[in-house]
Amino acid sequence: MTRRGLSELKVGGLTLRGVAKGGVETSLMVPELKLLFDVGQVHPGAQSYDRILVSHGHADHLGGLHYLISQRHLQDRRPPEVYVPVEIEAPLHTIFGAWREIEGFDLTVDLRPVRPGDDFEVGKGLRARALRTTHRVPSLAYCVDRITHKLKTEFQGRSREEIVAAKEAGRELTSPARSPQICVSGDTQIEFLKGHPELLDVRVLVHEVTSWDERRSVEQTRHWGHTHVEEMIPVSEGFTGEALVLVHRSMRHSVEEARAVVAARFPASVRDRVHVFA
Ligand SMILES: [Zn+2]
Ligand SMILES: [Zn+2]
Repeated sequence: MTRRGLSELKVGGLTLRGVAKGGVETSLMVPELKLLFDVGQVHPGAQSYDRILVSHGHADHLGGLHYLISQRHLQDRRPPEVYVPVEIEAPLHTIFGAWREIEGFDLTVDLRPVRPGDDFEVGKGLRARALRTTHRVPSLAYCVDRITHKLKTEFQGRSREEIVAAKEAGRELTSPARSPQICVSGDTQIEFLKGHPELLDVRVLVHEVTSWDERRSVEQTRHWGHTHVEEMIPVSEGFTGEALVLVHRSMRHSVEEARAVVAARFPASVRDRVHVFA
């Protein structure tokens, strides 16, 4: 825990700062990418984020949006870009119309509707891909890649003069390469990860585990569109990235209980790379 009740985890060259509690609130800031994932509430520092990636419309992930936009308006700052599943764009415009009436000023909201498969810029040299997850309402995971430009293989090992000559001849020397930095899957059943095994190679994979023992069965957990730890354990074995961060823990379970489950039950090959977000 950091001051002001926010948790913080530094993994894979990134900082995850915020809250991710199942049914209570999810808001995760990643300062290195200048991205805010979900906005259940507005925490100190969140108002400086110009891009928000919203996974779905449940209040614990979206309830802070109006407050954040209203605060930015009061500060005379431009509204943040808010990426949302396309299905909730129209209802959100309706809600913001009502807030305009209530607050008595012309609140500007910059909603960017997103469809599964969309691929868009989220900063200099950063692109996000949206993937459909398996939840009770339309929901999206966001995977963020850093774009680097690599010298094409045909120019590797060539002399400086040859490369300068090729450039002067107008040839393209580099090709873009994408390196996955983080994928945040929002609320989802385990089928999302099973259907996207490539995500097990992402540097930092943030995935929910809502239920951590038999107080909620696998079936009950699935009924609410979530993941049970019993489903995550076998899938985690294939994880090759730097950090598998488990979020959205139900408040039935303490962080200590969840960490004890990781230590006792997760495969030894991945255990040290599995983090329970406090
Ligand atoms: Zn949730
Ligand atoms: Zn949800």
